[in-house]
Amino acid sequence: MSKISVSVHKFSSCDGCQLAFLNLGKDLLSLPEFIEIRHFAEAGPIDIESSVDIAFVEGSISTPDDLQRIKKIRENSNYLITIGACATSGGIQALRNLADTKSWIANIYAKPEYINSLDSSTAISDHAKVDFELWGCPINSQQLLSAIRSLLFGVAPLKDSSKVCMECKRRNIVCLMVTKGVPCMGPVTQAGCAALCPSFGRDCYACYGPGENANTTALANRFAGLGLMPEEIAQRFLFINNNAGSFKQEGLRWKAQSITKSK
Ligand code: SF4
Ligand code: SF4
Repeated sequence: MSKISVSVHKFSSCDGCQLAFLNLGKDLLSLPEFIEIRHFAEAGPIDIESSVDIAFVEGSISTPDDLQRIKKIRENSNYLITIGACATSGGIQALRNLADTKSWIANIYAKPEYINSLDSSTAISDHAKVDFELWGCPINSQQLLSAIRSLLFGVAPLKDSSKVCMECKRRNIVCLMVTKGVPCMGPVTQAGCAALCPSFGRDCYACYGPGENANTTALANRFAGLGLMPEEIAQRFLFINNNAGSFKQEGLRWKAQSITKSK
């Protein structure tokens, strides 16, 4: 099997998803047999212009420089995979899309004229063709390994289209919403984490983003039935993946209701 060349690039993010590579444990030691890492600043190799088979991209597009850089990375890669909530939906920093970015900057920085930032934080797919997305905040090492393994065998990686609730069922985890009335986002959230939070007795806060055909309205109404106020429901959806399609729509709908009520 011939080696595939790989680069790992960072945009606006916390670096946590890149750690999914470094956290591979003993699998990390066998990776060099199969892949050649050309650019991965956090781990050492730097060759930002290198042409590669697969580019992994972490982070959202937040500055004019990011716009230029992502175009170059796309030109230089055969297959582009976005990793994590920032790259796939704009991340927590996309909350600024709902506010006046310029006034935020003016209030935070002593010299706002030195900040060269776009008014929005957006997903990589808004600016370049993306071949595969790994959602999560952060992603886990198994997702990464499974995508690399598929590509080594020349097949496209598979997406799990089930929801976190299904992972609870597979692991025999007792449902927190049904038994304790906890407002859990699992019914609308993509699977992939093996129901990590419910396995520790806490509700899912949807870090893997909206699942396929997620019925967000039914879940939001259920949350209202559990006693959550419109503002609290809005916050459940406008969190880590606040800029992701159905979450954004549902969150803004409940936010508008909370503003009407407070008038
Ligand atoms: S605990 Fe949450 S994720 Fe698990 S089955 Fe219940 S609602 Fe779904
Ligand atoms: S249970 Fe929900 S919040 Fe927790 S890791 Fe999984 S997707 Fe993320």
